[in-house]
Amino acid sequence: MFPDDEACLRYVEELRWPDGFSCPACGTKGEPWRATRGRLVCQACRSQTRVSAGTIFDRTRTPLTTWFEAAWHLTTAKNGMSAQTLSGTLGTSYRVAWAMLHRYRVAMVRAEREPLQGDVEVDETLVGGVDHGGKRGRGAKKCVVVIAVEIKQHKGFGRVRMRYVPDASNTSLLPFVREVVEPGSTVLTDGWGGYNRLPEQGYLHRATVVSTSWDPADPSMPGVHRIASLLKRWILGTHQGSVDPVHLQSYLEEFTFRFNRRSSGSRGLVFRRLLEQAVVTVPVTDADMTHGYEW
Ligand SMILES: [Zn+2]
Repeated sequence: MFPDDEACLRYVEELRWPDGFSCPACGTKGEPWRATRGRLVCQACRSQTRVSAGTIFDRTRTPLTTWFEAAWHLTTAKNGMSAQTLSGTLGTSYRVAWAMLHRYRVAMVRAEREPLQGDVEVDETLVGGVDHGGKRGRGAKKCVVVIAVEIKQHKGFGRVRMRYVPDASNTSLLPFVREVVEPGSTVLTDGWGGYNRLPEQGYLHRATVVSTSWDPADPSMPGVHRIASLLKRWILGTHQGSVDPVHLQSYLEEFTFRFNRRSSGSRGLVFRRLLEQAVVTVPVTDADMTHGYEW
């Protein structure tokens, strides 16, 4: 479908203006003139709009065909791809592949906006730490990740959301629940004190056991436990266990995006969904890439 950058730009244009181009400068709707390098010219006021302005593709030096191919691999490979594997597959440098992956992960978070509902298990797990080679140092810090997953009566799990938090205190846990779980839902926890104030926030709270100490190594929540082990296997398998805590949240977003679409019959639709978010995502700066995206 996408033999050249021209075709990719047409697709981006269609995603940005599904009802036809309207000029951001004067608001006039109508077919624009097409100039070189993906610029559209308003027939009314003659101002120019770059098709990629305000998207994650803004001012990229990488061909859009490469970006699109990366999105295809990211959405069709069962476990996604590491930057290493992607650079080999696309024939780009590691740095270019890494940058594309990170920008797509920013788009993925945008795709997860509908709050979780019904019965939702919430618990924490630890990610990272000593790797299997016994190496310590960079990335050796254990990170607390809080996971929420919808529990379905007969169909197993629904959707998940996850966040890397500084600790397991209620000031870390409650804002996460408020953001990702619909008020009125039933939140299932292990009774850890960090969740005590859920009823004040409009949730039904069901604690299975009452833990008096915080022990993430022994999660009593079977749903979260299962998701956590899939997450850890993915980090170990696809990413060789090497996830920098600075970028951990973006890896969590990628895992979430893929997990929540695991039963989608059409990879093409998942690809389209990713691209739809890619064209409305505010541009990611180099500082975001170096120091971690501000989620
Ligand atoms: Zn105009």
